[in-house]
Amino acid sequence: MSGFDSLEECFEELTPKILAIETGLSSDPPMNWRLSQLDNVALISSSDAHSAAKIGREAVKFDGDLSYSAIADALRGAAPSRAGQRSASPTKLLGTIEFFPQEGKYHFDGHSAHNVRLSPAETKQNKGLCPNCGRRVTVGVLSRVEELADRPANFKPAGAPDYWSLVPLEEIIAEALGVQTGTKKVSAQYESLIQTFGDELTILLDTPIKSIEAASTPAIAEAVRRVRAGQLHIEPGYDGEYGTVHVFSDEERLAPSSSEQVTLF
Ligand SMILES: [Zn+2]
Repeated sequence: MSGFDSLEECFEELTPKILAIETGLSSDPPMNWRLSQLDNVALISSSDAHSAAKIGREAVKFDGDLSYSAIADALRGAAPSRAGQRSASPTKLLGTIEFFPQEGKYHFDGHSAHNVRLSPAETKQNKGLCPNCGRRVTVGVLSRVEELADRPANFKPAGAPDYWSLVPLEEIIAEALGVQTGTKKVSAQYESLIQTFGDELTILLDTPIKSIEAASTPAIAEAVRRVRAGQLHIEPGYDGEYGTVHVFSDEERLAPSSSEQVTLF
């Protein structure tokens, strides 16, 4: 396995200078919280800039003054181990906006050639071998976390900021309408929602569901509600296959007419 097992191994005596680490698209705060060695750093999420529409799909939510020194202070205070110093800081890091790491191509383990997808526990049970062909499985990110973790899954350290896992609004609209992203129907709804409420993150996080319903369709409003509640259908990626995150179940998606019938226009 390439890479480092700890910040100390990589940065040595400079480790205390590291205030924050970026979790990447392939991990989210709960995966990092399982390593107590990361309690001394803040977790941040930054967006890549492959295309204009994807800027901001991962982000950090600050509250307060946004000067360089205020942000540096907020980062210093956002580490769980320094939660006690936060009250003195004028700016707070409230949390991060996250993509679902399960969508990545190497979240779980397995062999995609014959549809063998294994959780880290299943890989362990099978001694790292594929139950279909007997060869070593391709090991993914979650197994690597499992290897380094000294805490159970779902552990949240005291003082850790929040996080919000989101699905892009375009994808939500496409699913609710039963069409593909990039279609005219989707962009019409998308533009109309942005015109009404200002920006995508506000719509995904804050706009009242009733207002979204009034400005779009009941199915779109229900889809946003489910994303906020984390009521999603997630198939983790493995061995080079992208994972999928769906708002509606297969049955619901096969019967889009029910959602179409209740559209308001
Ligand atoms: Zn195999």
